[in-house]
Amino acid sequence: MIDSDARNELLAKTGRSYPRVGLLIDGEWIYDRPACFQVINPSDESELGPVPEAAPEDYDRVLASAERGFDVWRKAPPLERAAVLQRTAALVRERVEEIATTITLEQGKPLYEARGEVLRAATFLDWDSAQLQRAYGRIVPSPAPLRQLVLREPIGPVAAFTPWNVPISAPSRKLSGSLAAGCSVILKPAEETPAAACLFAQCFMDAGLPKGVLNIIFGPPTEVSRRLILSPVIKMVTLTGSIGVGKALTRLAAEGMKPVLMELGGNAAVLIDSDVTPAKVAELATEAKFRLAGQYCTAPSRFLVHRSVYRDFVDEFAARARAHRVGDGFAEGVQMGPLVNAKRLAAMQSMVEDAIKRGAKVDAGGERIGNSGYFFAPTVLSDVPIDADAMLLEQFGPIAACTPIDDMDQGLEIANSLNLGLSNFVFTNSGVEADRLSSALRSGSVAINLFSSPAAEAPFGGYRESGIGREGGEESLDSYMVSKTVLQQMVRI
Ligand code: NAD
Repeated sequence: MIDSDARNELLAKTGRSYPRVGLLIDGEWIYDRPACFQVINPSDESELGPVPEAAPEDYDRVLASAERGFDVWRKAPPLERAAVLQRTAALVRERVEEIATTITLEQGKPLYEARGEVLRAATFLDWDSAQLQRAYGRIVPSPAPLRQLVLREPIGPVAAFTPWNVPISAPSRKLSGSLAAGCSVILKPAEETPAAACLFAQCFMDAGLPKGVLNIIFGPPTEVSRRLILSPVIKMVTLTGSIGVGKALTRLAAEGMKPVLMELGGNAAVLIDSDVTPAKVAELATEAKFRLAGQYCTAPSRFLVHRSVYRDFVDEFAARARAHRVGDGFAEGVQMGPLVNAKRLAAMQSMVEDAIKRGAKVDAGGERIGNSGYFFAPTVLSDVPIDADAMLLEQFGPIAACTPIDDMDQGLEIANSLNLGLSNFVFTNSGVEADRLSSALRSGSVAINLFSSPAAEAPFGGYRESGIGREGGEESLDSYMVSKTVLQQMVRI
């Protein structure tokens, strides 16, 4: 099942190899630092290459560079900033194969999914290159005889932290929003997937982004976050990552009263009504649940299914899960790659064991595949009690936890019972239920009769502990800008 020949063939044919990972400081790549991390290919556990660790003086240099970069970039005319983002988007599309190959090597997702992620990353740049041209201020009428102007200004140098599951699209959302607003950025990509982020950064450099506007740093995460966030140079902090790390970074930011944009974890519920065709929903659920091996923040996780269609749904879902093709992301026909590391494998095993202990049944999968690479079988569990780990914790893996419900009110109550809310899904043929549930569900997005989340043109973010602030949509630049009011009395003085 685990076939790495396709990968070796592709690399030999294209002459590609795993790119070098560097620090990007003031427009220069720096490689000669001791390693703080070895990147592992999760399909076969081989070492891909080292991640250099920033030395103490690198932090001084990177912060000074971001400060200079901000001074240049905030003064750049909007059309110039838009042109750089547009050229970057074009280069990302041109380099799709190179970047996608790197993502599949270090992250494991099938090559077609990696290509999709790269192309999606370019759409955020397209969107923000247009949004920045509409970052209007306003004139506010005053009761007094004076003129009041509201100006919108970039907030300053930003510290950005991104995860391994979407190594290009998470940085893209952050870089396109902040750079469009006129900020400079110091990015700390996930150490599991650093090379894709470096290739992405090179697109900005080749598109003419002035040096110092985008910098990349690596090191022990707690060290990087402390040194950047506590520095007076940094004026805003953004993370896409777990809730625990989000809270830690928000606490650090609070020391300097710095605003944060936090895109954090979710645990999406899927409410399935009695009037649907269960096989149809199961088909869509299979594709959505096992995409990226379930390792994405909006992955459907808690399947709350009306009792009248429950068994048909679970049986079809399980049959499809068993037929889902798992393997090296380079192999032809593979639909699901490995988990990113051994920790995720152990987490999946523990969730399955906990569910069984509490009375759940394993309808498909439930265990590791093979003993090389971090592959876990697409798993469908039924009759999972709502206090099982697989219901309460973010799964971040290929487990679908199903449980029957008596009506949609019960489903709604379970869906809203956790202190988080990124995405939820509803399947129903009733317009009234669709309306009612989309307003009653406490999450940043609700999708009705499809599994999808907001793209560049609509805001994306979480309720409750799933986050603060929004990326994309009309709101895209908001977190990276501040409003300044100028009051001007029109008199000679
Ligand atoms: P993570 O929180 O462990 O890491 C995210 C980033 O923070 C990485 O760059 C990591 O090196 C860094 N980091 C880790 N510990 C840190 C610390 N103590 N101090 C400073 N930085 C630290 O998350 P992950 O495992 O890389 O990604 C998975 C999580 O990300 C999941 O919870 C998932 O839901 C979430 N996620 C959310 C979204 C969203 O848009 N809401 C999108 C993708 C992933």
